[in-house]
Amino acid sequence: MRLLIAMDEELGRGSDGVPTRDEVRDVPRETVHVHSAAAVPVQSESQTNTASAGAIGAGEVLRPVNGTFADHSGDSPAWTPIAEEAFTAARVLHPQEALPRPSRRRIMTVANQKGGVGKTTSTVNLAAALALHGLKVLVIDLDPQGNASTALGVEHRSGTPSVYEVLIGEMSILDATKTSDQSSNLLCVPATIDLAGAEIELVSMVARESRLKEALTDEVLNELGVDYVFIDCPPSLGLLTVNALVGAHEVLIPIQCEYYALEGLGQLLSNIELVQAHLNPTLSLTTILLTMYDGRTKLADQVAEEVRQHFGEVVLRTIIPRSVKVSEAPGFGQTVLTYDPGSRGSMSYLDAARELAERGAKESR
Ligand code: ATP
Ligand code: MG
Repeated sequence: MRLLIAMDEELGRGSDGVPTRDEVRDVPRETVHVHSAAAVPVQSESQTNTASAGAIGAGEVLRPVNGTFADHSGDSPAWTPIAEEAFTAARVLHPQEALPRPSRRRIMTVANQKGGVGKTTSTVNLAAALALHGLKVLVIDLDPQGNASTALGVEHRSGTPSVYEVLIGEMSILDATKTSDQSSNLLCVPATIDLAGAEIELVSMVARESRLKEALTDEVLNELGVDYVFIDCPPSLGLLTVNALVGAHEVLIPIQCEYYALEGLGQLLSNIELVQAHLNPTLSLTTILLTMYDGRTKLADQVAEEVRQHFGEVVLRTIIPRSVKVSEAPGFGQTVLTYDPGSRGSMSYLDAARELAERGAKESR
């Protein structure tokens, strides 16, 4: 594909030839990815047929028998798609099993200087999925737009204690942290419009690239008791994003399954390399998440395939489908996990969070 070739040229690299075509074929058009390896036919959002966390396997259908739900493959007159979705939703909101704790705290920067690729949506929904499954998560909103704060239902009017005060050294993260009403495990340092001026103010400050890292001390994070920190970046490669890259262990790049999705990715990758070389040698690109997949277009498959061929195992097997419920949720100050827990979008983010957590539990860094 022309775009990826352009990116390769930008990076001065060829494709690494990792044969991951089969993985992409796991997600044929007209299907969505469910529970990592399996796929089920796309249905309307109110007809989601996916099973949720726990013992229920991928693509299995839950049917109520005599008024109660049980694993049952036969048809039952009591079964309706809405009843099934309600059951799935209950399992998302009140899971029986927690996701595994990481072997050590993970600080992940969600970055892509391209706008509107799903950085904020992925940040808040992954965070909510992990939090609803027993892990304690802090989201740091590092975008003056404050979209992550909105989706987590956290106040972010100008003047509210926020990441701005933290960056200019006026406040500890502890004092700026709020708890989302979606889960007591879900914390957020909001961003207000005051952050818009921070990029200019930071220029003249000492250690301007490491202001966030200095605030994110082990002492502070231990006191908050968090397992995961997600930093939601603005759509630029300026000082705010550099602060996020310096303060993190890992980078998560959301890539939209669209034609121009890969443009500029080379520049982001070289910035990551620069930060690795000069400011944060422990930083690594560990996760790529494909977002807004539209199964009706061939292009979405092509983009997903190219990304997998180029980046190999870094790409999560779960692909997030384009879903109206996902885009509606922030308008209600919610993540899709609480707005419509049984929907396809919610289940996909839960699957992606599970993959992320399982990878984190395996790593012994
Ligand atoms: P920015 O660069 O402006 O910060 P972003 O990369 O954070 O943007 P989002 O704000 O997460 O991107 O998403 C951009 C738009 O796409 C939003 O309106 C969001 O609701 C919508 N969107 C994101 N993911 C999905 C999805 N899976 N299905 C449908 N709409 C989505
Ligand atoms: Mg955003």
